[in-house]
Amino acid sequence: MLGHVKLNHPSLVRGWFTQLIPTGIDQGVMIVRASNSAQSRYLVKHCRDAFIEAAQAALGRLVTVEFEVTQESPAQEPDDEAILAFRPVAETIRLNEHFTFDNFVTGPCNRLAHAAARAISDDPGRTYNPFFVHGSVGLGKTHLIQAICHAIREANPDAKCHYISCEMFTNDFIESVENGALHQFRYRYRNADILVIDDVQFLAARERSQEEFFHTFNTLTQSQRQIILSADCPPPEIPSLEERLVSRFNSGLVAFLDRPCFETRMAIIRKKAKLRCIEIPEDVVRFVADRIDTNNRDIEGALVKLDAMSQTESKPITAELAQEALGTMSTRPVSVSTIMEVVASSMNVKVSDLQSKRRAKSVSHPRQICMFLARELTTLSLEQIGGYFGGRDHTTVLHAHRNITKLLETEPDLPTQIEEIRSRVRHTTN
Ligand code: ADP
Ligand code: MG
Repeated sequence: MLGHVKLNHPSLVRGWFTQLIPTGIDQGVMIVRASNSAQSRYLVKHCRDAFIEAAQAALGRLVTVEFEVTQESPAQEPDDEAILAFRPVAETIRLNEHFTFDNFVTGPCNRLAHAAARAISDDPGRTYNPFFVHGSVGLGKTHLIQAICHAIREANPDAKCHYISCEMFTNDFIESVENGALHQFRYRYRNADILVIDDVQFLAARERSQEEFFHTFNTLTQSQRQIILSADCPPPEIPSLEERLVSRFNSGLVAFLDRPCFETRMAIIRKKAKLRCIEIPEDVVRFVADRIDTNNRDIEGALVKLDAMSQTESKPITAELAQEALGTMSTRPVSVSTIMEVVASSMNVKVSDLQSKRRAKSVSHPRQICMFLARELTTLSLEQIGGYFGGRDHTTVLHAHRNITKLLETEPDLPTQIEEIRSRVRHTTN
């Protein structure tokens, strides 16, 4: 198992790993014993997934891993700080190995962003700094900024290129403040050659993290180190982002990723099929590209579905099979009024309430679902969507979308409920 962890997650490995003892497996749970609770905390916090992966690889079956501690002797226990201090930032997110420039298809929707990303990889810190890329979900932000990391690491393996999500930055910051380890935090981030933060819209409403990020930003850019950021909207539209950060983000290059056109969608389908070793005839490529025009993630989803269906039914991928597989994924144009009508009838509210200013939860929750679906299913801008709901502004729509996205992860019944509404909307003729 240690060999596996060393090979696949080298940055997690600590010298004391050799003292860990697997004490047994019971009902699919392997217990790994650490010598003290600081070690066990480190393991629980950073290494659980890596150990599970390693145990499964070693045993060839599905097991999970739990950590426990032997006889505690407080005198010998090293403090957390010593264990955590040398943690490089980049270890926490591994790059997706497929998110490279080679696998990134370009078209009119992303040409500028792609060209800028290339230029930055060739000469980080000097061309466009910061580089801010924005676009709606599934349009390739993460892919593009990880491609820059891959290219930089390949050209210069010693470069300290740190890719993290905004959430990790803020969590790491909060934790460091709580543990009195702010100096290590600063050392970690301000020492990066390239700092890449994905989904910075999550900095919204995190005042102290914004303040800290502002200083990190200044330190890095002053010494010509590269900063790369992504978000689901341009800097000025990130709700409650401090003005000084908006102007910093705008000071380099702000590039936009648009929805892909038909030809680009076809090229993406071909590329993804090749990567997954799926044989897909040209007429099916056309069919999928025609059907799925929302975003690149949905295109991939369609391809996976098609492949799974062809395997379970032992049929080759044909236009007929595609029709069957994607029947429910059609993307006929949808109107906001249809969404409102369907939501009103399935959630027992009046359309006029959805458009009103009433804030009672019985009304505001369905209203947020409408806004969420309007953003997912139509091509309208945030302002335009807000217009349907009593002239609300774009930040309200953005907030609604984020809130429902979050609830989808925590409320067990919500995904099915929204899926039902979505399917009814799709089958209602406007
Ligand atoms: P975002 O971060 O904008 O939500 P991702 O970067 O995660 O989107 O992309 C979603 C999926 O679509 C990924 O599998 C990614 O590889 C694919 N994808 C997006 N844009 C492209 C592109 N231009 N070429 C090839 N694949 C793409
Ligand atoms: Mg992303």
